[in-house]
Amino acid sequence: MPLLAAVNLIHLAMFRCIPCNHPGCKKYAVEDEFTCLEHSDHPDRILHTITRALGDKHNHRDMLITDAVFDHLDFSKTKLSMCNFARCVFRDVDFSHSKINSCFFDFCLFDRCMFDDNDSRHSVVAGSKLIQCSFTDSMLIHTNFMGIDARECDFSTSDLYYSNFSSSHLVDVQFVDCNLKNADFRYTERDKVSFKYSNFEEAIF
Ligand SMILES: [Zn+2]
Repeated sequence: MPLLAAVNLIHLAMFRCIPCNHPGCKKYAVEDEFTCLEHSDHPDRILHTITRALGDKHNHRDMLITDAVFDHLDFSKTKLSMCNFARCVFRDVDFSHSKINSCFFDFCLFDRCMFDDNDSRHSVVAGSKLIQCSFTDSMLIHTNFMGIDARECDFSTSDLYYSNFSSSHLVDVQFVDCNLKNADFRYTERDKVSFKYSNFEEAIF
């Protein structure tokens, strides 16, 4: 099954997926709205509300916004579960010291984002592009990084137990002093990738 179809099936299983009511649109409606962001008549207000919620450090569950752009924002210490941010763009966004559990960030672009000191288990980042992002000192167990395109990223001193990087393209990516037990790196293309001080012999290649 293609990656996109598989991820869509998981979405349907997990979220209250209310279709956008614009004729012919196949996207989901934003949380508490009738349309997707593109077909809303007040997209700026929606983005303002979501941005404020992501920055307020309270627990958020079932948040859904796709295809949005988040630029130069501080979402550190955010607490998210069962949220869907598929196909969003995050530039210079700080997610450090956050708890992000069972959330979907599939087919996103992360450019210069920080996820240091995170507890981000059971989330999906599949198919995303990651440029100059850091995921150090983090709990990233059972996380789906399948098919990512990562450049100049740092996962060092993180627990990647049972995480899946298969079919990914990794260039200049650091996995120094990580727990890689049962982490899946099959079918990856790797250039300047370091597994120094990690238990790579317990990973799957
Ligand atoms: Zn729509």
